[in-house]
Amino acid sequence: MEADGVVPDGTTVFSDDTPGVANLDPALLGALYRAATDAADNGVEFFVDSGWRSSEYQERLLREAVSKYGSIEEAARWVATPDTSAHVSGNAVDIGRFDATVWLSEHGAEYGLCRIYGNEPWHYELRPEAVDHGCPPMYADPTHDPRMQH
Ligand SMILES: [Zn+2]
Repeated sequence: MEADGVVPDGTTVFSDDTPGVANLDPALLGALYRAATDAADNGVEFFVDSGWRSSEYQERLLREAVSKYGSIEEAARWVATPDTSAHVSGNAVDIGRFDATVWLSEHGAEYGLCRIYGNEPWHYELRPEAVDHGCPPMYADPTHDPRMQH
């Protein structure tokens, strides 16, 4: 359901009537606007595959991942719990398509937009200090992220 944060095909960072985009942290959204506006000059459009998610939606994704990967341990490499997910708190966005992720991997740090996980080239979060210092080293996957320990 869109109200849970499911985003329709073709959603971009400017789709502010879509809850999955509108409920993102305003600072993250502001950085995405600035980056997307500059990327548009290079003919690159930032689509949003996933942004904010309700706890219920995150729980559903986790259940689906457990049945897909066979165990909670393996599923945790890809999908966080509702308590730990940066998507549920509105602090993470999954960007599509390929050209946008390439553009962000080259220029994102200038806007404080950083890749967090080696296994998720589409997942970006705001790290304001990256503007001056560059993005912090990536975790191989979410199981290495201290925020995911509980
Ligand atoms: Zn993500």
